[in-house]
Amino acid sequence: MAVHFHEEDLPEGVFGPGPIAVDTETMGLITARDRLCVVQLSDGGSDEHLVRFAPGSDYAAPNLKAVLADPLRLKLFHFARFDLAAIEHYLGVTATPVFCTKIASKLTRTYTDRHGLKDLVRELLGKEISKQQQSSDWGGADLSDAQRDYAASDVRYLHAMHAILVERLEREGRTAMAQACFEFLPTRARLDLAGWPDRDIFSHD
Ligand code: MN
Repeated sequence: MAVHFHEEDLPEGVFGPGPIAVDTETMGLITARDRLCVVQLSDGGSDEHLVRFAPGSDYAAPNLKAVLADPLRLKLFHFARFDLAAIEHYLGVTATPVFCTKIASKLTRTYTDRHGLKDLVRELLGKEISKQQQSSDWGGADLSDAQRDYAASDVRYLHAMHAILVERLEREGRTAMAQACFEFLPTRARLDLAGWPDRDIFSHD
């Protein structure tokens, strides 16, 4: 198990075939204001890859973009809505097709309102992850070991949870509904970017 750190882009050919787990760290929650600092990726093997972007980056990253935009590769996220907006705004690509473990959790784990990554990893896999570095400064010249570990752990368990959640969706008869939600996610992210972050445009009011 190793965490690989890269500046500005992935090396070529670091991933095996199949789905890729993806997460992002930014300077904050307002995408247009708070720049994209780190993209974390895993192919479900024992290694994670972190791509760090410096202040003033041009976000060229051709290898990273090729992986994210690959229409044959499923991208696994937890709360894809946020990451898709950051990826589209800063990298200019739409990271589809998508599977979101948070949406799959909400559509299947109707017995709880705890759908955070930490809760999901604990219940489905019996593992503990720390969220201590979540609100740390991702924009500095170097990332601490604690930040690297945290960033990597956010993509480490998405493949295992994806496998379980696919079964749960099937069991509860909600696979097609989940798929339709996943297909809408890029539009949901664009609504966030375009100025409808909180307004539910499906509601009567
Ligand atoms: Mn994260």
